[in-house]
Amino acid sequence: MPGSLNGGSEVRPLRPSVGAPLRACSGCPGPEYSGAPDCARCRALVDAILEAEWGAFLAQQGLADEPEVAELVVEEPDRHDWRIVDAALDRLVCSECGGPLSRGPVGCGACDLANGFRYAAVETDRPGARPGNEHAVRVSVSVVRRPQGISEREVLARRLFLPELLSGDLPSTGQAQATKDRVNRMSVTEIEALFSLMLRNPGVGIP
Ligand SMILES: [Zn+2]
Ligand SMILES: [Zn+2]
Repeated sequence: MPGSLNGGSEVRPLRPSVGAPLRACSGCPGPEYSGAPDCARCRALVDAILEAEWGAFLAQQGLADEPEVAELVVEEPDRHDWRIVDAALDRLVCSECGGPLSRGPVGCGACDLANGFRYAAVETDRPGARPGNEHAVRVSVSVVRRPQGISEREVLARRLFLPELLSGDLPSTGQAQATKDRVNRMSVTEIEALFSLMLRNPGVGIP
């Protein structure tokens, strides 16, 4: 049900609002949302971003959670919010690899195709968020939910900045490039150390 995390009885607002401070995750060293896909708690939080919107969509339309509804949504991605499209894809089984459609291994043609179409979905910036923030959130969410074929450093960088993006932040193109250059010069161990550092120095980004 919307509002609860899979595997737990905890109920809380599911997505950080614009300006919300970072919160430590009880399951990994970084802020909430930064540990997906390895941290089960962060993974459930990220999935809940989609599931909450899907639940609201079904309730609003008076629809049941059935594969037929998911199929209709996926056929018209440009008419729906990206969270609804991604949640719908999760409910469809890929005819090629047998996994959730769009999240299969690199080289699964049907998943690659669905993964491309998902970007036609609607991305609406929240009031108070930097313009383009919602697109950055959705790309990062897509990457941590399907890291296959993406470099370890890029996945780490996406994970690192997802919590701040969820709080409405968005680095400028120049800042993003500088961060990328910096991350590329760091070892994976050095990047991993930034997760807990971020909690101690919120808002500083990569030092
Ligand atoms: Zn975590
Ligand atoms: Zn597939």
